[in-house]
Amino acid sequence: MAKETLTAEETRDMMIAVADAIIKAEPILTDADRALGDGDHGIGMERGMNAVKEKLEGQDFPNPGKVFMTMGMAMMSSMGGASGAVFGTLFRAGGKAIKGSDTLGGAECATFWREAAEGVMERGGAKPGDKTMVDALVPAAEAAEGASGGAAEILAAAAEGAESGKTASEDMIATMGRAKTLGEKSLGKPDAGAVSVSIITATMRDFAAG
Ligand SMILES: [Mg+2]
Repeated sequence: MAKETLTAEETRDMMIAVADAIIKAEPILTDADRALGDGDHGIGMERGMNAVKEKLEGQDFPNPGKVFMTMGMAMMSSMGGASGAVFGTLFRAGGKAIKGSDTLGGAECATFWREAAEGVMERGGAKPGDKTMVDALVPAAEAAEGASGGAAEILAAAAEGAESGKTASEDMIATMGRAKTLGEKSLGKPDAGAVSVSIITATMRDFAAG
């Protein structure tokens, strides 16, 4: 059954599912980064998500925000590099914004994605159109804010926004991030970080959909 709200425990289980999905997608992420960058994104994300699982599995959390913040810290301290900083910031900034809430409902999901996008843009300096993860993250946040309903509906909207943003990033010429030196040669492929964001949002959607 579709979830209107998630408890801290359900949020933890959802993010363990996200970690498993990213670990499974390592070859896809490696290929995506190899096409436009140095190919290290898949391995980096896999390492980060293994650290996330170590911190989340079997642990109790006081609220959903703390689950996301713990996830972000685990990624920052285990991944290193630009991806560790920006993906760690995504979860930490989003989680911090909702740490006063005992459950993850529709409003908290929208706040999470908005603050995650703001935090990543502030931390990494990329704007929409630069062909980075921001091009999946900002449409996810906008779709989440524009939707109404409980957690399942908002997370579904975010996933749809991320998917269309990832696809749109194929037609962008990189001006920041992994592919900025490629210029027009970056056309036709999505940004690897945007692919990661689409996998993360799709897994959260599927978990909340029950
Ligand atoms: Mg790379």
